[in-house]
Amino acid sequence: ERLKGPHKRNPFGEGTLTRVIAVTSGKGGVGKSTVTANLAVALAQKGLKVGLIDADVHGFSIPQLLGLAQDGEVPSPTQVGDLILPPVAHDVKTISIGMFLRQSDGSTPGAVMWRGPMLHRTLEQFLTDVFFGDLDVLLLDMPPGTGDIAISAGHLLPGAEVLVVTTPQPAASDVAIRSGLVARQVGQRVIGVVENMAAMTMPDGQVLDLFGSGGGDEVAAALSEEGEAVEVLASIPLSQALRADGDAGDPIVVSHPEDPSARAIHALADRL
Ligand code: ADP
Repeated sequence: ERLKGPHKRNPFGEGTLTRVIAVTSGKGGVGKSTVTANLAVALAQKGLKVGLIDADVHGFSIPQLLGLAQDGEVPSPTQVGDLILPPVAHDVKTISIGMFLRQSDGSTPGAVMWRGPMLHRTLEQFLTDVFFGDLDVLLLDMPPGTGDIAISAGHLLPGAEVLVVTTPQPAASDVAIRSGLVARQVGQRVIGVVENMAAMTMPDGQVLDLFGSGGGDEVAAALSEEGEAVEVLASIPLSQALRADGDAGDPIVVSHPEDPSARAIHALADRL
């Protein structure tokens, strides 16, 4: 019953002073959420006031990645009147549907089986009912692909900028291009491509390009328009530490800032 219609203004709609950056991908599993969570923390480390909306309602993972889940349990946000106070992790104010869902035994998180209108209202309520206060940057971890939330985000966040995450392999880059095109169709601006799971250098110096190469450049070229080039803003290598820290709920930009993947994410934060 929490999901009643919104009664407040969307502070991130038309004319917002907050930079809104939606992070999208063509398909799941390319590291979009991992990159978004770490990018949010890296931006906060630079002194910016950062919010993060987990808009990947069906596949939410932000609470876990930011260490907000304890033994698999996600604490519920505090409610003050009709405002929801977003939990803060590593100086990032964050909200996720995973904070509200309960299983029948009362434990969190449950699962979501919602269609478009509910998804739209969820995003709308995250924007209007969650008290983020003044933010420099609001990041959105979008669901992969070109579904309902992508279209809702276009309506609710007309000024949003979009970062497209892909792996270097054609199977990911081909669908990533479509996500970028949909974002543009709903009026958002594609500001760059992030290539994740790029080649890693092994301890013996050998270079392992598990997912091939070139996907980032391919997406950037396909999304570039006359007068507005889209660039690959970061190439984040495969990293065992990035995977392990994500599983442990420790953002690698804090726990292992010297790891090549963390350096690439810090450099991305500097370029935005
Ligand atoms: P998505 O949000 O695109 O579905 P996730 O962020 O959930 O993807 O990442 C999928 C899996 O890949 C996770 O287990 C994550 O730890 C792992 N992962 C992400 N980026 C990397 C990387 N650069 N190197 C190694 N593992 C990665």
